[in-house]
Amino acid sequence: MGCVRKVVPPLKKYLFTPGPVSVPPEVLLEMARPIIHHRTREFSAILDHARTLMQPLFGTQQEVILLAASGTGAMEAAVTNLLGPGDHAIYVNGGKFGERWGKVLAANAMVGHEVTVEWGRAVRPEQIEEALRAHPEARALLVQASETSTCAIHPVAEIGALTRARDVMLIVDGITSVGVFEQKMDDLGVDAYLTGSQKALMLPPGLAMIALSPRAWERAGKTRTPRYYFDLPRELKAQRDEHLTAWTPAVSLIFGLAKALELIHAETLPQVYARHRLMAEATRAAASPLGLKLIAPDAPAPGVTGLLTPAGLDGSKLVRMMRDDLGVSVQGGQDQMKGKLVRVGHMGYLGPLDMLAAVSALEIGLTRLGHRFAMGAGVAAVQERLARSI
Ligand SMILES: *Cc1c(COP(=O)(O)O)cnc(C)c1O
Repeated sequence: MGCVRKVVPPLKKYLFTPGPVSVPPEVLLEMARPIIHHRTREFSAILDHARTLMQPLFGTQQEVILLAASGTGAMEAAVTNLLGPGDHAIYVNGGKFGERWGKVLAANAMVGHEVTVEWGRAVRPEQIEEALRAHPEARALLVQASETSTCAIHPVAEIGALTRARDVMLIVDGITSVGVFEQKMDDLGVDAYLTGSQKALMLPPGLAMIALSPRAWERAGKTRTPRYYFDLPRELKAQRDEHLTAWTPAVSLIFGLAKALELIHAETLPQVYARHRLMAEATRAAASPLGLKLIAPDAPAPGVTGLLTPAGLDGSKLVRMMRDDLGVSVQGGQDQMKGKLVRVGHMGYLGPLDMLAAVSALEIGLTRLGHRFAMGAGVAAVQERLARSI
């Protein structure tokens, strides 16, 4: 007879996954409000309010369009509205989400040219320049601002300097950058910028946001890709002119979005960015004392930190143990990094002190799996980093 250990989940849970994230109580309460009909003045006021509060997070004067979808829906919307069947596009593949651009292009009968980047690295602007030269027919360049699977960021400003001078649309997945660090799409020459609700916006999954540059709106009006649900010109007309959505919106999530954005603006954006930077720096400070290497030391993402697990230690087991025994959810690696990486997310409703819980749980898990280091050394490094910033 096999002995199956009964797992009693710990009462208190801590979410340090790079999406979904923990949601503030104020937002949870807002989403518990009774449903109202979405073709009413009451709903229009909330929709307008939420869309307006999103603009500074995107760094844009353009309309921010809300879609009832996960983030991938907005990725597809960008592709199908800015490219036609048979069109060529260049995409940066430095991880799982970059790879997804290639799949979205292929699924829509477009020709993708891949710029391959080693996991944990940022794409080099020279690679982009070279790809643009090799593929003058390319009509778009697709990249992640922050590649969540490898915890690295790509240099959007440098890429924008190359694409804005050409008839190449720069499409940026901002899913773990919007609300984490400053990326002003208008200043950077980004033509389509998009995100999802369950990362830095402190919301449950299910809502996506996208904004287009003026030249992208022009392109969207002429693109011939078959599309129905994600028809951005149609959504623009509904959301900007009629103060409604084309289809039934995710009403409760939009209530929550308005509240989450009020909290973000009350904290102020510079503070929000500083808080993420501090959480990231504190988490990274723990790596070396624990004898762990960072997967992306040269271009670390401010929203998620990737720690390589020691050789011979099963990272998946570590993640499971932290979750089942300690109630602390972090995320492992995907594909080639499966079992070799621990990703600690620091987005959503989290503060710098929460990183003590994350690193403490990591230390306990590592110790239980036989990794040797001075217990408490990582926690002390986090504390020291925090002490320097108050
Ligand atoms: C989470 C994430 C996505 C995927 O979004 P879904 O909401 O799962 O569809 C895409 N890109 C990046 C960079 C992400 O972090």
